[in-house]
Amino acid sequence: MIIDLSKVLKYEDAKVEFDSCLDIKEVSFAGDTYRFLEPIRVTGSIHKSGGPLQLTGRVSGVMSVNCYRCMKEVQKDFNFQLDEILVSNDSHDTEDDEAIRFNGDKIDITEVVINNILINMSMKHLCSVDCKGLCPQCGADLNVTECKCSTEVIDPRLEVLKKLLNNKE
Ligand SMILES: [Zn+2]
Ligand SMILES: [Zn+2]
Repeated sequence: MIIDLSKVLKYEDAKVEFDSCLDIKEVSFAGDTYRFLEPIRVTGSIHKSGGPLQLTGRVSGVMSVNCYRCMKEVQKDFNFQLDEILVSNDSHDTEDDEAIRFNGDKIDITEVVINNILINMSMKHLCSVDCKGLCPQCGADLNVTECKCSTEVIDPRLEVLKKLLNNKE
């Protein structure tokens, strides 16, 4: 998603507006895959008022991700604010580490949008607050079935002790 900055770079108080869709299918991050069920809508503007360029906007869409406990697919809507400072690599203003860098008079904000989606949405998602998850022993989905595994959780240290006692008999 490339935005032409030539106008804002040239004129003080200039502003470029954008309203576009990013057609990204999925993003993988920290072992999770976020699948986007429709193009991601990105709207906003870039403007300059004295200092560096400021990007403000909104990102919205629908994604699906696996439940952290039972792995079932969960749909999540997202809609959040974008706020970034853009600094040209040509400028010598290198103080702001958080700023997004760009070359020439264009910027591709695809990566900025994806990073912001991950910052806002990469958490442990659950299909419901009381999801029972999967049985750690047989893998059955405890939301839909009751498995025959022992629900009694044995502390591994006690287990060792129990074996020792059994051997003595
Ligand atoms: Zn679940
Ligand atoms: Zn089980």
